[in-house]
Amino acid sequence: MKVVLLGPPGAGKGTQAGLLAERLGLEHISTGDLLREEVHKRTELGRKAKGYMDRGELVPDDLIIEMLAGRLNRDFILDGFPRNLRQAEALAEVAEVDRVLDLELTEEEVVRRLSARRVCEGCGRNYNLLTNPPVTEGVCDACGGRLIQREDDRPEVIRRRYRVYEEETAPVKEFYRRLGLLAELDGARSIEEVFQEALQLLEPSR
Ligand code: AMP
Repeated sequence: MKVVLLGPPGAGKGTQAGLLAERLGLEHISTGDLLREEVHKRTELGRKAKGYMDRGELVPDDLIIEMLAGRLNRDFILDGFPRNLRQAEALAEVAEVDRVLDLELTEEEVVRRLSARRVCEGCGRNYNLLTNPPVTEGVCDACGGRLIQREDDRPEVIRRRYRVYEEETAPVKEFYRRLGLLAELDGARSIEEVFQEALQLLEPSR
């Protein structure tokens, strides 16, 4: 099964993609995580991408499409891609998507959630100080790493990312709606509630 998750930053795409990938045996492909890894390793791609990411803008399509080359031939759940129409068309050329889940969230809720997001420096696990805090403040439950705030989770950058989402990614929703693949979910609910609905949509017979 090939699944795409859409939705604004902070809607829970990463969390749900991780849970669904594990339950359904799909590969979780997050372009944001892949890019942050490139930045961390200071590769050429990472150097090119960093400025865009810090400003909350999209990294140029060619770099993203090249980064994904060869990764899309097995079953997957994509989180953070496609982000605009050109990427959606590029994906359609190499893979047949079965289902698209769109997690919806208002701008105010996005700002509230992302301002409280913390990420483990070591393993990349996400926490939220309001809804999903670590057991010990500032320390990752899974690996003991230090929890930090992402550079692009500052309020002014969050608002820019939301604008980019509305302008660039909303047409992608229309693209998949026309193909009859889109399902919209209310992302403001608990992780468990969204997960159960997503499972139901992906595997109605279970
Ligand atoms: P995310 O973790 O999905 O919020 O992505 C963080 C940042 O990485 C975004 O704000 C963009 O700068 C960049 N990025 C991630 N995925 C893409 C993509 N598909 N196309 C362009 N830029 C992306």
